[in-house]
Amino acid sequence: MWLRQDLRSHDHPALDAGRQLAASSRRPLEIVYITDPATNPAQTQLIDNRLRWLNTHDRRLAGTIRVTAGDPGEVLAALRPVKVYVTADHSPAGLRRDRRVADRLGGSVLESADTRYAIPPGTLTTGAGTGYKVYTPFFNAWQGCGADPVHGELPRRGDDPVWDDWLEFIGHRLPGYRDSRDIPAVDGTSRMSAALAIGAIHPREMLATIGSGPAGADDCLAYTRELAFREFYADVLFRRPETEHSNVNPKFNAMALNTSGEELTAWAQGRTGFPIVDAGMRQLNATGWMHNRVRMLAASFLTKDLHLPWQDGADYFAATLIDFDPATNQHSWQWCAGTGTDASPYFRIFNPQTQGKKFDPQATYITRWVPELAGVAPADIHAQRNLPAAYPAPLVDHAAERAEALARWEAIK
Ligand SMILES: Cc1cc2nc3c(=O)[nH]c(=O)nc-3n(C[C@H](O)[C@H](O)[C@H](O)COP(=O)(O)OP(=O)(O)OC[C@H]3O[C@@H](n4cnc5c(N)ncnc54)[C@H](O)[C@@H]3O)c2cc1C
Repeated sequence: MWLRQDLRSHDHPALDAGRQLAASSRRPLEIVYITDPATNPAQTQLIDNRLRWLNTHDRRLAGTIRVTAGDPGEVLAALRPVKVYVTADHSPAGLRRDRRVADRLGGSVLESADTRYAIPPGTLTTGAGTGYKVYTPFFNAWQGCGADPVHGELPRRGDDPVWDDWLEFIGHRLPGYRDSRDIPAVDGTSRMSAALAIGAIHPREMLATIGSGPAGADDCLAYTRELAFREFYADVLFRRPETEHSNVNPKFNAMALNTSGEELTAWAQGRTGFPIVDAGMRQLNATGWMHNRVRMLAASFLTKDLHLPWQDGADYFAATLIDFDPATNQHSWQWCAGTGTDASPYFRIFNPQTQGKKFDPQATYITRWVPELAGVAPADIHAQRNLPAAYPAPLVDHAAERAEALARWEAIK
């Protein structure tokens, strides 16, 4: 069993397949995790902790994960395996790596027994036989198709801390999720993204239990739509791997962009002088996680106020997010940049002042992450006036940059 982004022992068809083969062939089951030097530091720490927990506390694993480094093909070949079971990785880098490993092992030794999704990428097609390019029809098809049932028994409370976090969310914070998910000062979202990124929980298990708590249908649907967004982006990237780095909409290849330099650094460090953007970037730098609403504002600011390539912002997120996921990250960036799937019209440009006022009216979130602004009246924070000298002056004039962005868009339209 070659574990990758499936670091759990429940609802695990690949691990089950390995166990069954080991039992029937009377050969030992080796469980291996091969570290990937490309993983960012926050996610590496998360993975280390998770592996340590699985090896010391997980009662279902029935084996020890051997954690090792090196070229996966060589590491696995040295074990002289009859079979290597994996959970499929549909990312472009994962597919390339698995092709190399399959060649190195030869025959049909490498076998995937599951995916990281309720419905595997590449499954759903439109009436015309193509992949979906727009989320809503994808979601309708995805819902109509129905997720695979959970394999084996669900964990119980106390079996796995990630599962306990999930139960805590559906019991207490899912009620009201539809409204509170947009308020960054409130702990209104599930924070399951990092667990999903490393496969400490499977979306099948989440879908099977989401309705078991006190939340109403609206909140369950709102949450289900977000899980399906993760599956939509995985599907789009699987079908069009080049969109990991290039625009989904090629019209934007002609767009004039600035070159990243000091402005990118100021943005990354949370020193743009736009409080809600800076708060988000500082939350990211301090914790490896940023609230979704603020991710959208930070991405919009980089692409439409600074006119920088979305790829540069996506690279910074990839290097820092604890929940980094190539499909969701790259395609969320494209969505914010207006270059991607779905009709996020380019001309709909977020105004950081009005967004701050609307989603963080008391500036609670802002002052939590930008302590220089503590004690300043929320109205002044949002209007960027009377701010202390310790806080950076605005990097740009939003109104002027909005006009500039629209002019650049007119030029390619
Ligand atoms: C520019 C940008 C970059 C992003 N990069 C990533 C990334 O690398 N990894 C990542 O997991 N999410 C990414 N997101 C999506 C979203 O911000 C996070 O999934 C969410 O904030 C995670 O917090 P949560 O688990 O509390 O979310 P919840 O609101 O509790 O959502 C539940 C789950 O649904 C999925 N989800 C939620 N929102 C989205 C979305 N907009 N698109 C796709 N899936 C979603 C996630 O798996 C999440 O864990 C990005 C969003 C933006 C705007």
